[in-house]
Amino acid sequence: MSPEKRVEIYRRLRAAIPKPTTELQFRTPYELRVAVSLSAQATDKSVNLATARLFPVANTPAAMLALGETGLKEYIKTIGLFNTKAKNVVAAAKMLLESHGGEVPKDREALEALPGVGRKTANVVLNTAFGEPTIAVDTHIFRVANRTGLAPGKDVREVEDKLVKFTPDEFKQDAHHWLILHGRYVCKARKPECPRCVIRELCEFKQKTKPGPRVPLALKKPAKRTKHKAQR
Ligand code: SF4
Repeated sequence: MSPEKRVEIYRRLRAAIPKPTTELQFRTPYELRVAVSLSAQATDKSVNLATARLFPVANTPAAMLALGETGLKEYIKTIGLFNTKAKNVVAAAKMLLESHGGEVPKDREALEALPGVGRKTANVVLNTAFGEPTIAVDTHIFRVANRTGLAPGKDVREVEDKLVKFTPDEFKQDAHHWLILHGRYVCKARKPECPRCVIRELCEFKQKTKPGPRVPLALKKPAKRTKHKAQR
């Protein structure tokens, strides 16, 4: 894909979604870190429902440690893999207190050393909580990058590296959110909505979907004429 095309793709995504952000609810880096960990293989909506009850009780590493694994499970048991997630969140809270003074580190290596935090979570935290121009690649971004030709790659790391390399600086900060929202709501996995896609002329996907058959408008009955008597 040519650099000009890439720029135009990002311009159009920016015009369509001027202020993109995560759909996870959070107010602090620690809340975001916990929410992202809980969101693996779960919807943002289900995570938000759980954290709306959890964060008023425990939104710091100290409070999370005090809540403990059993206590935390009560708040997140509606989310998939909650046993493992509870174990990791509490272990990470302990490590944050012991090694980082209870703060979320702004450093990739330190973030990835936390239990349950992989490269994707670290990228989201660095980008969304600390404003760094990282591009986390999830299933939506992997699909969009490959279909469009924006950054084709056989695995998430290859796609991430190409996105970082080829995305112009002015778009890097928001690229993650534009691509994730585009993948979630337009370039969907099973049936991409190409006819209404703002980048369809630029996208290099060979099997774009076509508009559905036109439904004829029902013939309208002419409105009944009513006689208005002149008021006396
Ligand atoms: S044209 Fe279709 S395949 Fe290409 S980005 Fe848009 S929705 Fe996805």
